[in-house]
Amino acid sequence: MVKNLVLAFVLISTFSCSTVRDSGNNSDTTAGSAKRSGVGTMPKNVVFFISDGCGSASFGLARDYQKAVSGATNLFLDSMEVGSVITFSANNKITDSAASATAYSCGIKTYNGAIGVDINRTSVETVLEAAEKAGYNTGLVSTTRITHATPAAFSSHVPSRAMEAEIATQQVGKGIEILMGGGRSFYLPKEKGGLRQDGRDILEEAKQAGYSLIQTTAELNNATRLPILALFTNDHMSYEIDRVPEKEPSLKEMTEKALSLLSKSDKPFFIMIEAGRIDHAGHANDVAAHLHDVLAYDEAMKAAVDFAKSNGQTLVMGTSDHETGGLSLGAQWGRRFSYEYYPANLGKINSSIEMFIRNLNGIKSGSNAAVTEWILNETGSRFGFSSEDFQTNVRKMVQYREVAGDSAAFTHLRIMLEDSTARAAWIGWASSNHTAVDVPLFAFGPGSEMFNGKMDNTEVGKAIFRALGLKKSE
Ligand SMILES: [Mg+2]
Ligand SMILES: [Zn+2]
Repeated sequence: MVKNLVLAFVLISTFSCSTVRDSGNNSDTTAGSAKRSGVGTMPKNVVFFISDGCGSASFGLARDYQKAVSGATNLFLDSMEVGSVITFSANNKITDSAASATAYSCGIKTYNGAIGVDINRTSVETVLEAAEKAGYNTGLVSTTRITHATPAAFSSHVPSRAMEAEIATQQVGKGIEILMGGGRSFYLPKEKGGLRQDGRDILEEAKQAGYSLIQTTAELNNATRLPILALFTNDHMSYEIDRVPEKEPSLKEMTEKALSLLSKSDKPFFIMIEAGRIDHAGHANDVAAHLHDVLAYDEAMKAAVDFAKSNGQTLVMGTSDHETGGLSLGAQWGRRFSYEYYPANLGKINSSIEMFIRNLNGIKSGSNAAVTEWILNETGSRFGFSSEDFQTNVRKMVQYREVAGDSAAFTHLRIMLEDSTARAAWIGWASSNHTAVDVPLFAFGPGSEMFNGKMDNTEVGKAIFRALGLKKSE
């Protein structure tokens, strides 16, 4: 495996990309060239963003919040919206991330849970693999575990998204220049604090094969050469609202570093960058965590477009794999007939509910009085909740602990926080899972005309192949 990896690098470094490109415009490096960004020109590089679980309402919430707190009129990505995407999978009107990411990476409909395989469980070459073979530098960035469904669907072939140890093994074996995000756990064996049962240390194997290993923001800042394997956390990276900058870089910082390293080489590149935790906050019905991950996504897209503007040969496009949560902007809390929606009220919140509950687990062995005091202090400072009603509910919930036990009581508290944060903004959640609504499509730069209007997710995948000048194997 390691030998194959080394061989792959040798092959890539000796392969001339001009033999597989039909656009022949790589010599034009004029910054912001009007010719290159005009209709009909082909990009040299493609940056593909995926905002996992992010629908139109999520972008609307972020826009309205930003307007209310900073006076900005729009999100950056509003200027790039070119259409929308239909997301159903081969076996369900509601897709999961595995099937929809496989639609983008392979241009095919497949079943929920499938990673880089068709409905018969047969492997299908992904756009990243085709790009590697054609001499491109390639990269994957995600705020989730790098072995999670979305990045996995570009870099591996397994019948089930749950096979993350196998996904990790496949990811480092194919010459990808940048692997960045969370998820050391499936790269490390149990003996070293990971979750692998086979005893293999894939981090060490990657190092032997030439990867620089990176684990902190400072190490990322110091990185100067490819390939890099940068995994900042064992599990998913933090929600943006909880992120500690010294430990974990922002999505924007990861994007800027990746593009800076890739642009040092003359080779064309393809990179997929995922804002993966927008989805998790949707599942958790945690509106503040959801909001701040969407804003972080907008900043990362802006950074990529700033790069594309000065580079002049880069297509930046983005979409979501599906919506999550059935978010609505405006909700009927109570039966009043009125239009109520106050996104600015989310400005008081500085923690995810997940982080709050995790910290609570540390003190839950305390007396009811101590737990009550902790919850009231924390919900006051982290969520801005201090009303008499809220305090009465917390006291009732802590008493409920005596009859129902910690687990039931704290589930009750979590639901109370989900409801209270939603009520604060007067937003609604219809689901704690994915929905079938269409998702927005964004594009900027040469080749952006290929992404236009209402598209199926498989059509988006096929268009990425075309934008890169790559043939899709049928
Ligand atoms: Mg994902
Ligand atoms: Zn999801």
